[in-house]
Amino acid sequence: MKIEATFVTSATSAGDLPREPLAEIALVGRSNVGKSSLINSLVRQRIARTSSSPGKTRLANVYRLTRGNAAPLHLVDLPGFGYAEGQQRAKALAEPAFDEIARAVFARSPAALLLVDARHPGLENDRAAWEWVSSAAADAAVVATKIDKLARGERIRAMRQLESVFDAPVLPVSAVTGEGMEELWNLIDSLVNRRNRNSRPSRNSQRPPKPTARSPEQPPTEPTRQQPLRRKK
Ligand code: GDP
Repeated sequence: MKIEATFVTSATSAGDLPREPLAEIALVGRSNVGKSSLINSLVRQRIARTSSSPGKTRLANVYRLTRGNAAPLHLVDLPGFGYAEGQQRAKALAEPAFDEIARAVFARSPAALLLVDARHPGLENDRAAWEWVSSAAADAAVVATKIDKLARGERIRAMRQLESVFDAPVLPVSAVTGEGMEELWNLIDSLVNRRNRNSRPSRNSQRPPKPTARSPEQPPTEPTRQQPLRRKK
């Protein structure tokens, strides 16, 4: 199936985010989790820069993706969290303190994917991030990266552990072997379509989808469970 991917913008604040009212999927994960590699593997081109200095960029990179005849969507690559800049910061992030740009993106009620490293199930800041993401996003799922690094037995154990920690289905993927890419496209489709049914912008509207969750000025301090997690079918 033909995939088109173009870079739209790098955003540092709400005002930089695209005005074109497309469905959005936000990608969240610790620095070095393999987010850039995954984006490149998903779109089959080197559109995202893989990090040589993790944690440096506090930008959201927005890409416009079209697969086959499906409606185009915006993929929003959020800055990695949890990079060890000292204990204090790591502690703050475990709560987790997302960047201003992450709050601005989540105020638009996107669908979201939390990326976690398959080799490290249940890290404290991944769990905290899931609490935040799963309550702030219109719909969310967990993706386990670098699955190629695990042998069969380890993989089975890790997947069981991940599903139990996050209490949600977890999709195993590898940017190296391409495993899970088709499933990831299908997962993205199902997340953004469910999200669109809840808050589809009007066809004539040039404005971005109306934030239904929270405004960036009122970031969630505690996750709420008003939007229960929807399980992947
Ligand atoms: P980011 O900081 O989350 O964008 O992470 P990167 O995409 O830059 O990847 C971090 C490191 O993990 C790099 O050395 C990648 O080559 C490696 N990596 C990323 N994805 C995979 C994967 O699926 N399998 C393996 N074996 N290595 C990966």
